[in-house]
Amino acid sequence: MTVDTITSSKQAIELEDKYGAHNYHPLPVVLAKGEGVHVWDVEGKKYYDFLSAYSAVNQGHCHPKIVGAMNSQAETLTLTSRAFYNDMLGKYEKFASDYFKFDKLLPMNTGAEAVETAIKICRKWAYEKKGVKETDAQIIVCENNFHGRTTTIISFSNDEGARKNFGPYTPGFIKIPYDDTEALENALKQENVAGFLVEPIQGEAGVYTPADDFMKKAKQLCNDNNVLFIADEIQTGIARTGGLLAVCGNCSCENHCERQETYSRPDILILGKALSGGAYPVSAVLADDEIMNVIKPGQHGSTFGGNPVAAAVAMAALQVVQDENLIQNARTLGELFRSEMAKYIETSNIVSLVRGKGLLNAIVINDSEDSSTAWDMCMALKENGLLAKPTHGNIIRFAPPLVMTKEQLLDCVSIITETLKTFEK
Ligand SMILES: *Cc1c(COP(=O)(O)O)cnc(C)c1O
Repeated sequence: MTVDTITSSKQAIELEDKYGAHNYHPLPVVLAKGEGVHVWDVEGKKYYDFLSAYSAVNQGHCHPKIVGAMNSQAETLTLTSRAFYNDMLGKYEKFASDYFKFDKLLPMNTGAEAVETAIKICRKWAYEKKGVKETDAQIIVCENNFHGRTTTIISFSNDEGARKNFGPYTPGFIKIPYDDTEALENALKQENVAGFLVEPIQGEAGVYTPADDFMKKAKQLCNDNNVLFIADEIQTGIARTGGLLAVCGNCSCENHCERQETYSRPDILILGKALSGGAYPVSAVLADDEIMNVIKPGQHGSTFGGNPVAAAVAMAALQVVQDENLIQNARTLGELFRSEMAKYIETSNIVSLVRGKGLLNAIVINDSEDSSTAWDMCMALKENGLLAKPTHGNIIRFAPPLVMTKEQLLDCVSIITETLKTFEK
């Protein structure tokens, strides 16, 4: 067997097309190198990365401290399975539990696995602590959610592409509109409700930011009804939205204080993506003892979950967030980005609005949802050295690594506005 040497983007695309399952529709750019806020294609062209692997690369590409931690752990011990202890996992569990202020952490690998884990914990808690009759637990979810791709998770998606012909679907979910406290209040009146699973900002759906007090009210309603408030912060967490978590509300302190007014503390917190800075698949579920302790030996697990490399990488990735002030940087640059974009939008016929929080933002294109305008704009942005991707139809998400400087951000704003101008009618 020989391994092909990739000499052109065209060749790499042809190989994926011929030998890979067609489960994605990528922008036609083939990346071969990344550093900080930049990536380079096979031909050596340099781009600003405005997707950050869906907010996994918050700390920037190939961060030396994260890669360093990964390399040194990879040379020492990579995998033991949880049949034995390893000398990294406990250290990481303590570090991350202190960091996010929960009693315990359950380590997994991908986001979807962590969501599945949260669902399992929530159901078990309902049967063993709340006294719901076994098999009857219901979890409230929101319309247009994105929580991953497993069979159970797509069962409560309303994206037809993600769902169709993958049934039969897992029961036990009640769907309500997003950002609708009244609907939540009504759903909570139903019997056997165990949890409310929610994204503090709906990223995949198009960066929908709810009313300022939605999380706070949702949390209160869950509390009042003895229902677990489960925050999926896989995309919004770890500094992306200008707080350590999006549920931190208006607080941008690093230490995830529990004193401030606006914090809506989840009963179960789900993390992934930037938990590793994009270096390695690392996800986690955090909760306090009274919830986490419903899981006993043999009842849940993963061969790779909590492996020593993941532990080393996650600790380094979280340390970088603190050392480099990424929360504050995301907050400041996010405000700058939205205000600069808003100035342009005032004069624009083709872009109708910019929205978001911190450095998780999107623009909505003034064209029909099934038009190709957003895609064409992303193609033009690519030509001009900036990579972004449409989310749903006519929405483009802008989420650069959080290690960006102000000068770089302003450079990007000018690339974006100059490119969009060519689409004005
Ligand atoms: C990406 C994402 C997931 C799924 O994570 P995977 O690692 O792709 O399985 C779940 N929830 C949210 C909010 C996400 O953004």
